[in-house]
Amino acid sequence: MKDHLVKATAEGVRVYAAVTTELVNEAISRHDCYPVAAAALGRTMTGALLMAANLKNEEAITIKFNGGGPLGTVTADATPEGYVRGCVGEPHVNLPLNSLGKIDVGGGVGTNGLVTVTRFTGLKEPVSGSCELTDGEIADDLMNYLYVSEQTPSSVGLGVLVDKEFKCIGAGGFIIQPLPGASDEVIDKLESNLRKVNSVSRMVERGLDAKGIIEELLEGFEVSCLSTTDLAFRCHCSKERIGGVLASLDKQDIDSLIQDGQAEVVCHFCGEKYQFDKEELQAIASSSKRD
Ligand code: ZN
Repeated sequence: MKDHLVKATAEGVRVYAAVTTELVNEAISRHDCYPVAAAALGRTMTGALLMAANLKNEEAITIKFNGGGPLGTVTADATPEGYVRGCVGEPHVNLPLNSLGKIDVGGGVGTNGLVTVTRFTGLKEPVSGSCELTDGEIADDLMNYLYVSEQTPSSVGLGVLVDKEFKCIGAGGFIIQPLPGASDEVIDKLESNLRKVNSVSRMVERGLDAKGIIEELLEGFEVSCLSTTDLAFRCHCSKERIGGVLASLDKQDIDSLIQDGQAEVVCHFCGEKYQFDKEELQAIASSSKRD
């Protein structure tokens, strides 16, 4: 099943659901993630895609988790067109399973810090908000962020299943938000449905697509699906952009690269490697303006 996101509404609630198994596997292979990193990054990327889904074209969102745990910072950037990229400070973290027998994402991310969400809306300055972490497990942290910082009550579910070979075998998530004026009856029915849901990654493993996830979450509701968007891991780095970064180095640093005769620069968001030979480095050095 290709990764995708479905937007739907039902009787006063808005729901977005996504299947993200392939893009999580791409992140695992690009960053060589062990399971704790794979689950933390996979949940963050899925959350970012779901939160980006109601942005306008050309807008974007960045979510950063800084919880002081062994994973370091977990970052994901997503767009409403369905593209996401992400990285984790330390992908090689090993932790025992938590008391529920699950990957210990909260232990990896840590709980001593903030989740920061930045929206790039085409205005001059991006809009940024942050919130103390709840449990470092990502979904509840985002739910709390949406409630505290954006006054949007939401229910958020995110899940990533990783097998013994460090391969993702099911990843996905959902966000449900009552629309203004949703009746108490609808909210009660929704809450009772959500209590029955145990794991969104197991739903994906069972073969449900995003529409199937929504139908299970909103059992008994009249659901109308509004749109489906394909999702993919995509970074907007390029040799030209990386060259621009090199051009901003101090003269001393770029001269030392020229002396080495070549340079390899790795994009930390996607792991792509860019090689620059001596002539290219000289061209960058002479094109950049410096005293
Ligand atoms: Zn990149």
